[in-house]
Amino acid sequence: MKYYILFGPPGAGKGTHASAIAKKYNLKHISTGELLRAEIAAGSELGKQAKALIDAGSLVPDTVVEGMIESAFDTIKGVDGFLLDGFPRNLQQAADLDKMLAGRGESLKAVISIMISDDAIRRRIAHRAAIEGRADDANDATITNRIKTYHAQTEPLIDYYKAQGKYFECDGDNGTLEDNQARVLALVESIG
Ligand code: AMP
Repeated sequence: MKYYILFGPPGAGKGTHASAIAKKYNLKHISTGELLRAEIAAGSELGKQAKALIDAGSLVPDTVVEGMIESAFDTIKGVDGFLLDGFPRNLQQAADLDKMLAGRGESLKAVISIMISDDAIRRRIAHRAAIEGRADDANDATITNRIKTYHAQTEPLIDYYKAQGKYFECDGDNGTLEDNQARVLALVESIG
């Protein structure tokens, strides 16, 4: 099995480009944000606990998302690998993922990083708010906290994965959506 991380700040286009990558390489796309929003929509206990943190633009506890990821690895069959989107989001989650994969006799293949500026994050999220109606896209304070959380907790993963020789980055905000998607797919192809 091949395990990839699709990395980047909120609004970088991870969700948008994930389906093209997943289809091309027969990977299962797993977005922890989407799984959490499904829990909220279903009104589950987990969803109720996660909602306040998500609405504030903070991270939900590591154990919650790690449980979701592990259960996906256990249950999803018939694919050549996994494309993780929105996970890991801090160094603890990254270390736990390494352990989780090692325990399965597997390892991470690569981190595919889509980079955009803070200005582009705000522009993209404002655009998405009008289309998808996500509560955490509609509030300025929440967006500011998500950007802060990204820089403080998630960005350090870049050096973590560079040190493993697994970090591959492309520009996610140059030209049309098709241009950006072509660049992301070319990056994945170059990794092999
Ligand atoms: P996303 O759809 O990836 O932007 O995620 C939306 C929200 O879900 C984030 O702002 C966090 O509150 C929560 N979330 C998603 N993935 C994680 C994760 N790996 N760890 C902690 N919180 C997460």
